[in-house]
Amino acid sequence: MQESNQVTPLRNGTANKRKLTRIAIQEEPDLRHKLVHALQTTLDVQSLLDIFIKYLNRQLPIGGLSYRHPSRGIHLSLGQDNRHHCDYRLITPRDNLGEIRFNRAKRFSEAEMARIESLLGTLIYPLRNCLQYQDALKAALHDALTGTGNRVAMDNAMRRELQLANRNEQPLALMMLDLDHFKQINDTYGHAVGDEVLHEVAQTVMQVARATDMTFRYGGEEFAVVLNNTDLRGAEIIAERVRTAISELEIQQGNHTLQVTASIGICQWKPEMHVKTFFEQADKALYLAKQQGRNRVVSQSPESAAVGA
Ligand code: GH3
Ligand code: MG
Ligand code: MG
Repeated sequence: MQESNQVTPLRNGTANKRKLTRIAIQEEPDLRHKLVHALQTTLDVQSLLDIFIKYLNRQLPIGGLSYRHPSRGIHLSLGQDNRHHCDYRLITPRDNLGEIRFNRAKRFSEAEMARIESLLGTLIYPLRNCLQYQDALKAALHDALTGTGNRVAMDNAMRRELQLANRNEQPLALMMLDLDHFKQINDTYGHAVGDEVLHEVAQTVMQVARATDMTFRYGGEEFAVVLNNTDLRGAEIIAERVRTAISELEIQQGNHTLQVTASIGICQWKPEMHVKTFFEQADKALYLAKQQGRNRVVSQSPESAAVGA
């Protein structure tokens, strides 16, 4: 079934008034065919736009391009920013694919805008594929209930961070967090409320931790935070901030105000330490935090941090 896509000119009044019969630019033979083919070679938005502007430049000079999709938080700029621009909204009958701006120092002629508009038609579906791929990737790596990364994402991040820490000789810390007496919350208020609490706690952890810290749902009511470029002392400060913020949460449930606390174990990675040992160290510290009365942060003891211990 043929769907009618729209490349809608924005703000640039002359583009609306143009008569299509007056197009004067000759299309390079095969350009469209080659462009269509090239656009199918990537699922990355930036690479896709790179390809598009490269081909477009073979038809007419373009200084730069920017692409915005505010609801997805995408704002990409390629090339320079210039005085003259033409803007288009990219939509299919089902999706809003954002807005694209072409710019350059010299004003665009109507024929050039017609050319851009015509070639933009080739970008629509490859762009939609990229965005859908991003969605699929996000779903595959995120925990739907809490919005944190999931175990797959955590394994990927840990592998990457260990390599970076090794290569750059930077410290790396791990924080394991487990909610205290969470079963009681489920038993008292029901599982749905428990889910809500988990979501609130996860959001709090992500807000309080730094932007570079990565939060993952490790298990039921257990979270792991990977703290890059952070030593044990730094991790203690962040963990204490997280613990306090959770204990200060007030979750409204009808006439009740629900409160929750968390126990946190932290440890610092040592060169050559096996990733399994790294998790075990954090787990041991978490276990001690529970044993010592909950709602507290416990760091690995220096002697237990020995490599492979
Ligand atoms: P402790 O302080 O020793 O950690 O006590 P706890 O009650 O938190 O620990 P326990 O391991 O006994 O219970 C964990 C509870 O977390 C039990 C389980 O029902 C609940 N849980 C795990 N995943 C979910 C979830 O996705 N949603 C909800 N609502 N509850 C969950
Ligand atoms: Mg618990
Ligand atoms: Mg638990």
